[in-house]
Amino acid sequence: MIAKDFGFVLKRMNFRETSLIVTVFTKRFGKINGILKGFYTLKKEFSSSMDIFTYNEFVFYPKRSTLWLISFADLIKDFPFLRKNLGKNSVACKFIEIVDKTLPLWDKNPLVFSLLKNSLSSLTHYRLTKLLCIFFTKFLTFCGFKPEFTKCIKCHKKLSLGFSFSISCGGLLCETCRAFYPDVFPISSSVVAIISYIQNTDFPLVLRIEPSSNDEEEILNILNGFLTHHLNFNLFSNLYLQ
Ligand SMILES: [Zn+2]
Repeated sequence: MIAKDFGFVLKRMNFRETSLIVTVFTKRFGKINGILKGFYTLKKEFSSSMDIFTYNEFVFYPKRSTLWLISFADLIKDFPFLRKNLGKNSVACKFIEIVDKTLPLWDKNPLVFSLLKNSLSSLTHYRLTKLLCIFFTKFLTFCGFKPEFTKCIKCHKKLSLGFSFSISCGGLLCETCRAFYPDVFPISSSVVAIISYIQNTDFPLVLRIEPSSNDEEEILNILNGFLTHHLNFNLFSNLYLQ
């Protein structure tokens, strides 16, 4: 079988003198590992630089083994500003890192694919902390780890005041259930409202949200706790926010 698809370069490694091995997140095949034989011989089939973050059109040969042959790579979109700005680069690296570390091979996820595309494009104009809040809240939602922010995650009671969150439970707890979990901490009602808005609003409308810096800090701490506990992923490592 031969296939054509679009994808982002997540990782690259030179192989022998002339070839390149890459991990690419594609639209229809999910994450794939591929080899571009003769990449450094300036073959006309490889017009893309295959730099990390680049968005390309590929032709490849899906098979059962984990390394697929990529016979064509054409650059569709580059993000040159990511190479010039340390803060934007570090945020884009976190987007790429979680896709690479947590999505299994060949597990297509079109929602995460458009999330990555929209988020990388938005790095030109929008505040980095806001984009981190949006990306990681949506990423968790699209990967089945959706933190529960509408009702008590244990007894499903509707909640209106005095919100408490548990990282290990993955959501809000009511006043009865919170007594049974040691890792419960209070969160503000504005943060609950912002996270619910992000979970339920698509791009580009979601970019209109303007959380205060205190709210963003609280959201990022909750997300980091959640990501560390459930996915062994540290949101703040190698992150340079100016
Ligand atoms: Zn409850």
